[in-house]
Amino acid sequence: MSRIRILDDITAGRIAAGEVVERPVSVVKELVENSLDAGADQVVIEITEGGKESITVTDNGCGMSQEEVSLAFCRHATSKITCAEDLYSLKTLGFRGEALPSIASVSHLVLKTKMHSETVGHRIELMGGKVLSLKPVGCSPGTSVMVTDLFYNTPARRKHLKSKGTEAGLVVDMVQNISLARPGVRFLLRHNNRVIFRTPGSGRLVDAVSSVHGVEVTREMVEIRAEKGNVSLTGFVSKPSLNRKTRSHITFAVNGRYVRSKFINRAIEEAYSGLIPSGRYPVVVLSLELEPAMIDVNIHPAKMEVKINNENEIAKFIKDTIRKHLQSSDLILNYNYKIRSNTEKYYYVQNIPVNASGTAGQGSLELEAGQIGEGIDIGKWDLLNKQKINDQTLLPVNVKEEQEALRQPCANTKSKVNGKVSNFPFLQVIGQLLPTYIIAGGPDGLYILDQHAAHERIIFEELLNSVNNGGNHAQMLLRPVPLELNYKALTVLQENLNNFKTLGFILEEFGSGTYILRGIPANLSTEKAVYQFIDLLDELAVTGREESYGDFNRAIVTRLACQAAIKSGEKLSLEAMNAIVQKLSRVNEPYTCPHGRPTLVKITERELAQMFKRTN
Ligand code: ADP
Ligand code: MG
Repeated sequence: MSRIRILDDITAGRIAAGEVVERPVSVVKELVENSLDAGADQVVIEITEGGKESITVTDNGCGMSQEEVSLAFCRHATSKITCAEDLYSLKTLGFRGEALPSIASVSHLVLKTKMHSETVGHRIELMGGKVLSLKPVGCSPGTSVMVTDLFYNTPARRKHLKSKGTEAGLVVDMVQNISLARPGVRFLLRHNNRVIFRTPGSGRLVDAVSSVHGVEVTREMVEIRAEKGNVSLTGFVSKPSLNRKTRSHITFAVNGRYVRSKFINRAIEEAYSGLIPSGRYPVVVLSLELEPAMIDVNIHPAKMEVKINNENEIAKFIKDTIRKHLQSSDLILNYNYKIRSNTEKYYYVQNIPVNASGTAGQGSLELEAGQIGEGIDIGKWDLLNKQKINDQTLLPVNVKEEQEALRQPCANTKSKVNGKVSNFPFLQVIGQLLPTYIIAGGPDGLYILDQHAAHERIIFEELLNSVNNGGNHAQMLLRPVPLELNYKALTVLQENLNNFKTLGFILEEFGSGTYILRGIPANLSTEKAVYQFIDLLDELAVTGREESYGDFNRAIVTRLACQAAIKSGEKLSLEAMNAIVQKLSRVNEPYTCPHGRPTLVKITERELAQMFKRTN
C-alpha cells in the first residue's frame, strides 16, 4: 500500500474532469465562459441529442495563436491569472486552466481558432486527452470547439446521464441564465438544428429578459436600480401577482457571472414575504456589481457559488431595494397576462413556444453560426410601459372629492402614502358582482376587486400600523367574556399576553389559568371579535409560531384580518364599496392580500378593444 506514484497527466485529467464535467451542461458552461472571457459578443451553441452526441460552441472572440493552442490543453494552463494574488482582482470567468484539459480527457474534441490579425487558423484534435493532430486550417476569426462522444471512456458517468430532453433542458436553462448576466452578447442556441433560444445582444437587460421570459412576463416586471457605495444592483423583479411554483425563475449574477446563492434567494424571498403566497416564488433577474476583491469565486468546483464579503449587508441592500421598488410601482395584475400564463416551462423563440425537451416550435428560425438575426422585437416594451397609469394617479378621499377629481382628469398630483408616492389608480365604483367582486372604472380601463382580499389587506395594515405605533385602541365590552381554554390555547395566551394587549385585547386573569376578555381592538366588530379571539387562540395552539411571517404579531394580525374581513358573498352598499376602495388606496401594499393573493385585477382599454375586435 505504500508504493505511492504520481499519476500521469491523462489520468489526473480524467479525475479532475469528474469535478468540472458532470454532464453536457457543464461542457456548455465552460466553453461559453471561455468565449465570453475571449471578449466575444456573439456566441452560438449547438447541441444534438441533448449534448450526448455533440456540443459545439462558436464565438467571435480573440482566438488563439498556434503556441496558445498547444498550451491550452495542459493542466493549469491559463492566460487569465499569473499568481494567487490575481484572484482578488479577477475580471474573467475562468482562472483555473482546467476546463479544456478536463473536457478533452473525457471526449473527442476538435478546436478551430484564428486570431483576427492572422491569415490562417489552427485546428487541434484530441481523443481522451491525447493530441491526435495540430495543423493549420482556414476558418473565420474566433474559436469553435466541438465535443463529441462525451464520457466515452468513463462509462459510469455516461450511464448517469438523464434523457436527451432533460439534458437539453439543463443546457437551455444554463444558456438563458448566462445570457441574462450578459445582455451585451448575442446568444443563439440550437438543439438538433432547431433554434431554441436567442438574444439580440443589444446591451439592454430588458431585451435579454424578454428573450428568456417572454414579452408578456417582462411587462409584469418592475425595473430595479440602486447603488450603495461601490455596490450596484440592477435588474427586473416580478410584480407579486406574477409568481411561480419554483425558484428556477430567479437569476442572479455577480460581476457578470451567473451564480446560485442561498442567501440571495432568502433576501429575495424576504422582500416578497406577505406579498406572494408561501411556497410560491417571484420571477427575478438581478445583477450585482462590486469590487472583485469583495468576492471569492474559488469556493466551488464549477464556480457556481461565490462567497461575498459582508453577505448580510448585501442581502439587506437587495431586500430593501426590491421592497422599495415594489412599493412605488403599479402592481396590479394584468387580466390578459393571467389568461396566457397557465403554462410553467416554456421558452420563447419569436413568440413560438418551444418546450423544454426541444420539440414543437413549428416554423422555428434556422440560423447559421455567426449569422445571428435581429432578435426579438421588444421595442413595444417601452411603449407599453408608458401606458401605465402613473401619470393620472389620484387618491379618492370621499365621494365629493371624487367628483371634483373626475372633473379634472388631467390632474397629476401623485398621492403620498406614509411619505411614499402611491401609484394606486383613481377608481370609481360601478357596482358589485356575484356578490364577491367590486367592479370599478379607472384611468386604464375596468378594475375588479376581490372584496375579501381587499378588506383583509386594509384591516391587516390598520392593525399592524397601530401595533407598530405603540399599541392599538381598545373598545370595552359591555359584558366581559370568561374564556374556556384547553391547555395548549391557554399556553399561547399566557405566552403572548403582551402581544394581545398591544393589539387591543384587554384580558384579566381570574383565578388560576382562567381569563376574562374585557376589551377588543377598536377596529374589529364587537359581535364577531370575541369568537375570532377564541378561534385565533385555537388556531395558534395547533400551528404554533409561524416563522414565515417574520414575527408572531404579524402572524396574529394576518389571521385576525382574515377572520374580520368581509367575506365573499356578502352584499355591500355603494358607500361600503367606496370606503373599501378609498382605504385600499391608502395602504402600503394595496395590490395583494396578506397571503399574497391579488386584491384587484384590471382589463385595460386596449384589451377591451381587442376583445371586441376594435383593433387589428
Ligand atoms: P481558464 O478558462 O480557466 O483559463 P480553460 O482550460 O478553460 O482555462 O482555457 C485555457 C486557456 O485557453 C484560456 O486561459 C484561454 O487563454 C484559452 N482559451 C480557451 N477557450 C478560448 C476561446 N474560446 N477563445 C480564446 N481563447 C480561449
Ligand atoms: Mg475556462
